[in-house]
Amino acid sequence: MADKILMTTPLVEMDGDEMTRIIWKMIKEILLEPYIDLKTEYYDLGLVHRNETDDRVTVESAEATKKYGVAVKCATITPNAQRMTEYNLKEMWKSPNGTIRAILDGTVFRKPILVKGIVPYIPTWTKPITIARHAYGDIYKNTELRVEAGSKAELVVTDKNGKETRALIHQFKDSDGIIQGVHNIDDSIASFARACFNYALDAKEDLWFASKDTISKTYDHRFKDIFAEIYEAEYKEKFEAVGIEYFYTLIDDVIARVVRSNGGFIWACKNYDGDVMSDMLATAFGSLGLMTSVLVSPDGVYEYEAAHGTVTRHYYNYLKGEKTSTNPIATIFAWSGALRKRGELDNIPELMDFADKLEKASIKTMEDGIMDKNLALISTLENKTPVDTETFLREINSRLEALM
Ligand code: NAP
Ligand code: MG
Repeated sequence: MADKILMTTPLVEMDGDEMTRIIWKMIKEILLEPYIDLKTEYYDLGLVHRNETDDRVTVESAEATKKYGVAVKCATITPNAQRMTEYNLKEMWKSPNGTIRAILDGTVFRKPILVKGIVPYIPTWTKPITIARHAYGDIYKNTELRVEAGSKAELVVTDKNGKETRALIHQFKDSDGIIQGVHNIDDSIASFARACFNYALDAKEDLWFASKDTISKTYDHRFKDIFAEIYEAEYKEKFEAVGIEYFYTLIDDVIARVVRSNGGFIWACKNYDGDVMSDMLATAFGSLGLMTSVLVSPDGVYEYEAAHGTVTRHYYNYLKGEKTSTNPIATIFAWSGALRKRGELDNIPELMDFADKLEKASIKTMEDGIMDKNLALISTLENKTPVDTETFLREINSRLEALM
């Protein structure tokens, strides 16, 4: 075999929890280390180590990502009451993804991997649809109240000189009711817009964005205007040069167009729309085990991961000594995405070429009928062989070897 591929800048490696932590190690040993002189700066984001470091390791890993520009992350446990006892935690540490996203000011893009045999519920979707969710504000940072009949509800804004501006929300008459205050900030909307425009240029795919500006003439209209201003000033020429389009429409119209489409575009969503529609797309494309995810900051920093979690149920079986059949594909694509980006930034064509081959070998394996049990349940291929996780990885490696 030829010499191993050399790297110049390290990748930020964020290790994680449970079944995905086991798979992480196997991917490195079976698919990466035989071919690459892997250079990573390692951060252990497993819950045990987050607890030991009072979660400082999460912040440090995000800072390192800012410094080096590319990270790859394993799925991690977001603690809840049950995890407090299970791991004897000092505190209910926050979601690592939330912490990292806040530090990088990033937008999450989710993209399904399409393979023969896994047919989307909408069969005309022959190309992937990438969804981008604005992860700040709106109802996720709201203030809400129940209101008694006979009350008057107003919006009040006090400016820096103490001057008040008021607007009536509703004069409640005979019935009790509810009110809600939501906000967003121009800077966050602008960062979201830039992340989407950059991603579209990178992927060479059209960008679609929608809101309800006809009804929400100030709030949603502000989103529309910020996107339009940034597009005109910073991206229009670049989009035209690559031959892609930025397209704005109303949220209900965009749903109709998405359903009728063949895929192959990026769909930017406001926070709530993205929450709902990303679950719809993941289900419609067939499998959580085939959904990739990348966090992109407006200044071009990338963090790759799988969209699924730590697959706890499989891990408990693994701990009992059972062979598990967990799909490693989305985690492999997190690595290939990160390695390709590192190769691109450091000008190492062999690394980019390796990433392509690793993805090709992964897809070929599934299209040859070799897959995990969950995927086999939904695959329409005639000949299917459900395998355990390690066999799955070795099968991918035999195809990868053939490509190298
Ligand atoms: P999950 O880990 O995604 O697993 C949910 C179920 O989906 C699994 O039990 C399994 O179904 C199936 N599944 C998911 N990924 C699979 C794969 N790669 N191969 C085969 N089957 C797969 O979600 P969860 O059980 O709700 O959450 C578990 C933990 O992950 C939680 O502690 C949560 O905080 C964390 N989490 C982390 C992230 C992240 O780091 N990005 C995201 C989500 C959740 P069957 O059991 O039917 O086989
Ligand atoms: Mg959701």
